[in-house]
Amino acid sequence: MVDILKEVVKLLPEGVVSEAGFEAANIVVYTKDKDFFLDNRGEIRKLVEEFKKRVELRPDPSITMKPELAEVKIREILPKEAGVQDIVFDEKRSRVIIHAEKPGLAIGKQGALLKDVRREVFWVPTIRRMPPIRSKIIEGIRGTMYQNSEYRKKFLDRTGHRIYDGWIRGKKSEWVRLSFLGGARQVGRSCIFLQTPESRILIDVGIDVTGTDSEQYPALDAPEFDLKQLDAIVLSHAHMDHAGLVPYLYKMGYTGPVYCTTPTRDIMALLQLDMVKIQHGEGREPLYTSEEVKQMVLHTICLEWEEVTDITPDVRLTFYNSGHILGSSMVHLNIGNGMHNIVYTGDLKYARTNLLEAAVTQFPRMETLIIESTYGARDNIMASPQESDAHFVELVERTVARGGKVLMPTLGSGRAQEIVVIIDRLVREGRLPKIPIYLDGMLWDITAIYTAYPEYLNRSVRKLIFHKDQNPFMSEIVKRVGSQKERQKIIEEEGPCIICATSGMLNGGPSVEYFKQMCENKKHTLAFSSYQGEQTLGRRIQNGEKEITFMSSGKPQTYTVQMEVDRVEVSAHADRRELMNFLAHVQPKPKKVFTMHGEVSRCIDLASSYHKVYHVETMAPRVLDAIRLR
Ligand code: ZN
Repeated sequence: MVDILKEVVKLLPEGVVSEAGFEAANIVVYTKDKDFFLDNRGEIRKLVEEFKKRVELRPDPSITMKPELAEVKIREILPKEAGVQDIVFDEKRSRVIIHAEKPGLAIGKQGALLKDVRREVFWVPTIRRMPPIRSKIIEGIRGTMYQNSEYRKKFLDRTGHRIYDGWIRGKKSEWVRLSFLGGARQVGRSCIFLQTPESRILIDVGIDVTGTDSEQYPALDAPEFDLKQLDAIVLSHAHMDHAGLVPYLYKMGYTGPVYCTTPTRDIMALLQLDMVKIQHGEGREPLYTSEEVKQMVLHTICLEWEEVTDITPDVRLTFYNSGHILGSSMVHLNIGNGMHNIVYTGDLKYARTNLLEAAVTQFPRMETLIIESTYGARDNIMASPQESDAHFVELVERTVARGGKVLMPTLGSGRAQEIVVIIDRLVREGRLPKIPIYLDGMLWDITAIYTAYPEYLNRSVRKLIFHKDQNPFMSEIVKRVGSQKERQKIIEEEGPCIICATSGMLNGGPSVEYFKQMCENKKHTLAFSSYQGEQTLGRRIQNGEKEITFMSSGKPQTYTVQMEVDRVEVSAHADRRELMNFLAHVQPKPKKVFTMHGEVSRCIDLASSYHKVYHVETMAPRVLDAIRLR
């Protein structure tokens, strides 16, 4: 392969380039020539056309204005209404990151204000949205990136060299091979290992938080897997059963990239740090520490939906909306320049919800589809969103009338935020009294992330968020619970209200603490909001178990469940009907379909129904099955 950086420099006017390097799959060229920086006379566009790669021109650090002076100038140029907050200079990469409450106003018509910034200060400006609700995790992640900008620059350059320096493993033949290392015929620890003659890629690396020791983690001891050879990790979304083990790989010495969307990066870091905290609290040795979560963050490369990017010499990645949680994505992999194309759905919702648009069904090419099967069995038909919302309202009204509270164990992300949107709407419409919604601990932090990335939400919520007084997440009825003392106060003193708390399956976390104190009171309602894994307390209660025993300082303590138990389960996953519809509508039609991420019978049922109805080759692989696709 040609040395692409040398070729780029050769094609530009002599002497204008001071440095050329990679930022992952992008090429960045620095110049000391101020005139060329401001007007490259179409030269950069020519390069983009020639190489079919993104090429960015930046001023050489030696010609950028001193940061202190540049900051003053930038604040002069951008209008007050844009709400400019922190301005951070990434000196190694000649970028200035401007945090604004209203990014649109800071950018100006057709980017006019950004052009002014470039011309006045000789920095490349990037505008980032300030979340209307402060988010410690977003601030922490941004801080980590800025503090380590030199390392980050080197890491991105190294990643680019791996992509463009040519084949390192020798191209002998064309083949594509998948190993299912977890989440096959089971829910939890999702993990697929993709190999080609040149590439070694992990798609999702989850942990099963409910599993027993040997089944908790993906089978990374599979003979074909070697961490030292791993080129990239690709993540569909932030849930722990898809991304929970990633920091552990850094602990074990991995230093390569993790590809995901920005909300996925932020939410997974939050969930992982929460697990570290819980394990510490329980006196257990944590699987990894916050230092390794930080290492992971430093190695993430965030992509937008439908942004095509090379990740190894023979694999090209694109994310598409999967409709499941904020930033959740289907993974499209184009292998060997179109020789074979895989779509992995991750977790999928094929219907518009209160928060998100439905999963995408149009792909440029696809031969193999790997699809989730959480609700893959014939009888896994769920209520429509309208029916479910109506059911939820009745449940809340009934509980409020008894003077009780509704406890909703929820997964970190998704359902709690949706409940906020539903209740806020009903309160505004006068259909529900103004009762508070308490978001416990992490749920509040995740809600803040939802407000930071409105572009990943559906059109109607996005519109609401842009109007401060209509932003459902900033409504006065939404309240944060941070401490044990506050929890106690809500249980003992607060009137009717809705309490959302993790974990969603009552296997630890504050939801269990609320449950213990509320379950023996008939006034209250326990409303499950998500799938309840086998062996979880949630599943046992759902199955009607009434006597629940917990260990308390070494002694068993038994509670009798008296509270009403119900479920308002709709949102996060496609039900059987949607899964069937998805294959009916997906374009192009795959030649092979693998079902995973479901209990044994559900994976098998969905695979056989797909075969019968759509006449495609299907399979429900088991953990450790390996299949050659081509
Ligand atoms: Zn999920």
